[in-house]
Amino acid sequence: MIDLRSDTVTLPTPEMREAIARAELGDDVYGEDPTVNRLQEIAAAIVGKEAALLVPSGTMANLTAMLTHCPRGTKVIVGAQSHTNLYEAGGASALGGIVLTAIENTADGELELYDLERELETSSDAHFAQPALAVVENTHNRCGGAAVAVSHMAEVAALAHKRRLPIHLDGARIFNAALALETTPSEIAAQVDTVSFCLSKGLSCPVGSLLCGSREFIARAHRTRKVLGGGMRQAGIIAAAGMVALETMLNRLAEDHQNARALAQGLALIAGLTVPSVARRTNMVVFEVDGDAALARRFAAAMKERGVLISPRGGNEFRAVTHYGISADDVGRAAAVAAQVAGELFGD
Ligand SMILES: *Cc1c(COP(=O)(O)O)cnc(C)c1O
Repeated sequence: MIDLRSDTVTLPTPEMREAIARAELGDDVYGEDPTVNRLQEIAAAIVGKEAALLVPSGTMANLTAMLTHCPRGTKVIVGAQSHTNLYEAGGASALGGIVLTAIENTADGELELYDLERELETSSDAHFAQPALAVVENTHNRCGGAAVAVSHMAEVAALAHKRRLPIHLDGARIFNAALALETTPSEIAAQVDTVSFCLSKGLSCPVGSLLCGSREFIARAHRTRKVLGGGMRQAGIIAAAGMVALETMLNRLAEDHQNARALAQGLALIAGLTVPSVARRTNMVVFEVDGDAALARRFAAAMKERGVLISPRGGNEFRAVTHYGISADDVGRAAAVAAQVAGELFGD
């Protein structure tokens, strides 16, 4: 099977499995796991923040950030297409009494600055829930995996900070963003107060995300993580793989980007498929099957029968993601299978 559904299907590298077996461990709830402590230091340094906290998932990293930044009854300003708005089960509202306020995203994954400004100007009159945080996402998952320009993040930061509002970056794939923008993760994160990133996507770890920020913020986040049941004991088992990821898996993401570009080009040549262009594409290809949802389902089922898995995104839209374990050959084969299937569905 060529599994292009997500980069979350990646399995740990042999080096990770070895590091996991050899990891020095302690009780991390007591702060005594040396491997976790080392990973947190390295993670904080990579994104240019003072401190970091290991959590089980990207969802918990974002939730911990929102609960730590925001008192109950306040608003978090998020993009309508953001992961936080769409795919985190409403956690901030369910558990934190936080109002998620969605504003428009551009097709490139940017926030509409006009809408952001309007939300930021919320009256302090007692009728209105007060903004307590803005969230940006980079790379932007739902917007085709686009890397968002640092200049846009700087504009968002300037508007928010003018009103003393902190910003959280959902940087689940910040290393993909840094590669595509030809900059460093710390340059990207310099615009924001707190940032989360995932070890378990393109970096191929089995579990884990990091939330990074000031020492003072992370100390408070530590308590929030405990509230959420995310305090783990010998978590060095997880952190050991994370260390290997940060040492060995960052640069190879370029290969995923190359493969995604090749796949996008291949699919774009096929009659019956449409591939919207993405400025600063990373490791994703979103494409549409011309016709209705039923035809699109038949397309995906036929792809699966021939060994290629893609992920449905509603309607006639699909997503294919390149990652560790997917070679240039695999991508070529996937495009060939798509051409064959489209030929059968759309041919005379
Ligand atoms: C995957 C993802 C998350 C959540 O990560 P999980 O580990 O799956 O909970 C958050 N934000 C973005 C943009 C993601 O792609």
